[in-house]
Amino acid sequence: MAQALREAARGLGRTAPNPPVGCVIVSGGEVVGRGFHPRAGEPHAEVFALRGAGERARGGAAYVTLEPCSHFGRTPPCADALIAAGIARVVVAALDPNPRVAGRGVERLRAAGIEVTVGVQEPEAVRQQAGFRSLVTRGRPWVVYKYAMTLDGKVAAVGEGSGAVTSAQSRARVMQWRNELDAIAVGIGTVLSDDPALTTRGIKDGRDPRPVIFDRQARTPVTARALRPGTIIVTSPGAETTHLEEVGAVIVRAEALPDALGELRELDLSSLLLEGGPRLASSLFAECLVDEVRTFIAPKLLGAGLPPLNNAAYSMTDARALRDVQLEALGPDLLVTGLLNDIPRLEVPGALGER
Ligand SMILES: [Zn+2]
Repeated sequence: MAQALREAARGLGRTAPNPPVGCVIVSGGEVVGRGFHPRAGEPHAEVFALRGAGERARGGAAYVTLEPCSHFGRTPPCADALIAAGIARVVVAALDPNPRVAGRGVERLRAAGIEVTVGVQEPEAVRQQAGFRSLVTRGRPWVVYKYAMTLDGKVAAVGEGSGAVTSAQSRARVMQWRNELDAIAVGIGTVLSDDPALTTRGIKDGRDPRPVIFDRQARTPVTARALRPGTIIVTSPGAETTHLEEVGAVIVRAEALPDALGELRELDLSSLLLEGGPRLASSLFAECLVDEVRTFIAPKLLGAGLPPLNNAAYSMTDARALRDVQLEALGPDLLVTGLLNDIPRLEVPGALGER
């Protein structure tokens, strides 16, 4: 399953609105086929793995990071393909929360006499599929707030001139995330003050995520580096946007933030890496729309500066605790990650587990 998860990771940031899925087929004690879902419209992971295995799939075991599909989408059901190939055993990491599947894939396999185990490395799989799970059950992308701060909790100095807070190792990790999430979101304040390009650099086979600029009054300059064909501008219903449309921007109009995120679903964005600034992050945080936090802490002291959130809280009892917290040392920096909202998942009922 660990190998299947690594296969799935190759599709991260490319499969929306579909999930990243990996599949490994084992027969006679060796891996005979492997595959991942590269992008929507392409075959699913199981199909690539079965193609690789050929006749050797007969009597073998398939390890899949997500329950095989049971419905006709753009491709025929993978459950049927596994049955037709003569697979004897299927090991599934996590059930598919998509109401069109939701356990039916497993039932279909069992009805055909295949031995099915569900729940192997489920937490890792669920985390990898957070964007897809958010999209199919909540109708909006999974929002990750990433920021880097000094030891005294500041993300930027008060004056002009930014300068990096963290080390090169930490910045390289951000590039990896940009490559794995569907979009990067920033507020208009960040565009006007920093003019970030929001591209991926130094990643093999990397691709640039789609920029999303939250800009109520459509003040993004046509010369902004983040503005390229396909850049999404989230603005208010009445804003004048002709100049932005002329350079290929996609305009999303919404009155409130939850509606704006719902509109992003229509553009097949399943995950959003929120990179600033504090004003946009605070607005999303206030509405419980920040799902996950990834914080770099650099061993520096700045003194006066901007905090990552500016929402007023009057008591420590109002603090929101992260779940599933992980700590990692990155060069001189500390990376703290954790969840503010749960990733939607289906419980594995006793009847669906191992039997
Ligand atoms: Zn499938």
